[in-house]
Parts: sequence; C-alpha cells; structure tokens
Amino acid sequence: MDAAIDYQAFRAEIRDFALAHCPPDIRAVVASYRKLSRKVWYPWQRILFEHGWGAPSWPKEFGGTGWDPRQRVIFDEVMAECDCPPQYHHGLRHLGPVIIEFGTPEQQKRFLPGILNGEDWWCQGYSEPGAGSDLASLRTTARREDDHYMVDGQKTWTSHAHESDWMYTLVRTSKEPKKQQGISLLLIPLNLPGITIRPIRTIDGWHHVNEVFLDGVRVPAANRIGEEGQGWTYGKFLLERERLGGANIAPHRKALERVRELVATELAGEGRRAERELLQHRLLLAESELLAASELGRESVEAVMQGNALGMLPSVIKLGTSVTMQTISQIALDAVGERLAPRFRRVDGAGPNAEEPGIEWVQNYMYARVRTIYGGSSEVQKNVIAKQLFGI
Ligand SMILES: Cc1cc2nc3c(=O)[nH]c(=O)nc-3n(C[C@H](O)[C@H](O)[C@H](O)COP(=O)(O)OP(=O)(O)OC[C@H]3O[C@@H](n4cnc5c(N)ncnc54)[C@H](O)[C@@H]3O)c2cc1C
Repeated sequence: MDAAIDYQAFRAEIRDFALAHCPPDIRAVVASYRKLSRKVWYPWQRILFEHGWGAPSWPKEFGGTGWDPRQRVIFDEVMAECDCPPQYHHGLRHLGPVIIEFGTPEQQKRFLPGILNGEDWWCQGYSEPGAGSDLASLRTTARREDDHYMVDGQKTWTSHAHESDWMYTLVRTSKEPKKQQGISLLLIPLNLPGITIRPIRTIDGWHHVNEVFLDGVRVPAANRIGEEGQGWTYGKFLLERERLGGANIAPHRKALERVRELVATELAGEGRRAERELLQHRLLLAESELLAASELGRESVEAVMQGNALGMLPSVIKLGTSVTMQTISQIALDAVGERLAPRFRRVDGAGPNAEEPGIEWVQNYMYARVRTIYGGSSEVQKNVIAKQLFGI
C-alpha cells in the first residue's frame, strides 16, 4: 500500500463530492436502470471536468488526475454507490490512452481536450458483419490517395454512433498474409459525406446500437493514429487498458439491492410469501456470486498495484458477472413480469411504454442478454481461460 495515500479519506472525499454535485435528476435516471445516453453523461462529465476529475485514468500532464489503479477503482465504486453515471468510456478509457501512448503531439492537442471536457463524443467502429469475435477478419478498406484515405465498408453494432461526433475505426490498409497485419486505426468525423448511420432496433426497445455505412469517405491521413498497418497493436493496447474495468463490482451490487427492494414491494403480503421467498433465495445465491467476483476484483487491483500480470482474472470476472447480472435481471422480471410483460410494446416502431411505472425492469431483462456477447463473448472468455490454464 502506498503509505502517502489515505484511501479511506480519498473514498470519503469522492463520496462527499458525488452526493453534493451530481444533480438529482441525473441520479434518478441512473437509479432507474434505464440505458444512459449523451444527454445524461455529458452534464456529469462537465461537472467532473471542472473539478479536475474529468479523466481519472490519464496522467496529470494530459489533464488527468494521475490517480493510481486503486484510487481509480475506488472512484468508480463510489460513483456507482451514489447513483452517479459511470463516465462514458469510448473517449476516456478506450481512445484517450491510445492517443496518449501512440498519437503525435498535434493529435494529442487536437483530440484529448474534447474528450476531457465532453465536447467531443466518440464511438467505436470495430465490428463488422462477419467480423465480431474474429475481429481481424474486418473488410472495411482505406485506400491511400495523396494526403487522405478513401474509406469503404460497413461497421455494425456501433454503440451510440447516432449521438457521436467521431468514430475511432479499424480499417484494412493493405492485404497481408496474416490477417492481423495491414490494419490501421483511423479517426473519422461522422459528419463527412458518404457516411450513413442507421439504427438497429434491439429487443430492449432502447436505441443504442447502429449500422454505419462508409461509401467513399475521404479521411485526412493526419487522422491515422500511429503507423499504417499497426492498428492491431493499438487495438490490443486499448483492450489491455480496459482489463481492470471489471474489478468494480459496485454497480452490480447496487442492482442486486434494487431488485431486492423490488421483490419486497412487488410481492408484498402474506398471500405472495412463497413466491417472494423463492426470489429472495435466488437473490442470495446471486449475492454470493457477486461476493466472489468482488474478491477477484480486489485481487486484480492488488496485482496491478504490484505490477503483476492479471492473467485470466479479467476473463473469469467478466464470465461470472455477466451471467450473474442476467440472473438478477431475470429475478426482477419474475417479480414484475406478470404485471408488466404484457404492457411491453414490441419494437415495431412504437417502443416500450415509458409511461408504465417499472417497465425498465422488463427492458433491462431484454438488455441483459447482451452481457454475454459484447466485450468478448462468454465462449471467447472461456477460450482465453483455457489457453491460460492448459496452454492450448
Ligand atoms: C449491444 C451491443 C453493443 C455493441 N457495441 C459495439 C461497439 O460499440 N463497437 C463495436 O465495434 N462492436 C460492438 N459490438 C459488437 C460486439 O463486439 C460483437 O457482437 C461481439 O464481438 C461478438 O461478435 P459477433 O456478434 O459477430 O458474433 P460472433 O463472433 O459471430 O459469435 C457468434 C457466436 O459464436 C461464438 N464464438 C465466436 N468465436 C468463437 C470461438 N473462437 N470459440 C467458441 N465460440 C465462438 C460466440 O461466443 C457467439 O456465441 C456490440 C454488440 C452488441 C450486441
């Protein structure tokens, strides 16, 4: 432990700030378990930025806090405990560190301030039809012409593209024998001619993912990060940086407590005692899984603090918590389903009936299906674990 840092006092400082400065209407949205959007994230990012906490994971010289990994996890935990929005990750956690590590001084000056103060909103253009888990199969091409690239192809499942200004994008700049080679990382403004963004309607009734079509889009070569053909290396760096993200179990514990309250109120009374106790029992099992995950999270933070490799820990945590969160959302649905499931309008254009109190539990159940797919599907996590365990 760093003797110079009083982590308990740090936790209390973050908590006092969060409770005093995070607007009640924003905390209410977070507490309601609705999918968040720029409208909610942006004002909170501004408040954090103005306080000097805009980028907890960046070094001080780039406007970050310079906090150590334990402080960063404490910050995330307290934010979740206080129902403050988690910071929007695409700029701050994914792209920012890549620009800090591999960008030119001009690129750092151009792109980092907008991420920090929330003025520039980013999305991730990696996945394509036919290139998800096997990302290196991506086919979107970028052909160099003088001082720009001509980009043609399609991205899919692009979260928040419809409310983003920019997309950091993996493109193929040359055909090489190994498919991980010949990939480059381009920063593409989403207002360029030739870009079409179409919503993907998901079963949860929220609009959060999109298809992005790129037809003859002229992107300045100055928007390429690092060397041409080295995009895979930067992509891997980006994912490595995110590996501690799962160590924060606080949002999951918060969700569990909410569902516990929901079960108690929704199934109140002697007449529903048996049903209630059954769901409470299932919640206890879920809680024990979260306790185990939280221990693994603590182990991960200690490993990073001591400069040790994380090995399979992030995959084990992701695998476990994604299923536990699906279980918790299932319990919530079992509590409200009888009353609300028939009121949930299908995604045929009308969307869910937002007026119906509690409908977000139905939406959340639908949304939770994605947890075992994005950020590396469960099967892919199992492959990673098997590789570490058995070297296969
Ligand atoms: C809601 C949502 C948001 C997303 N947001 C973004 C985003 O912002 N930007 C972005 O670039 N992408 C995003 N994605 C895409 C996401 O990263 C991919 O869906 C994910 O990588 C899986 O790829 P896929 O959908 O092509 O499925 P596939 O890779 O085709 O997988 C299909 C099935 O096969 C299994 N499988 C695949 N490979 C193996 C293997 N080697 N061994 C065993 N089983 C395997 C998978 O586990 C899965 O069950 C998002 C996806 C969703 C659903």
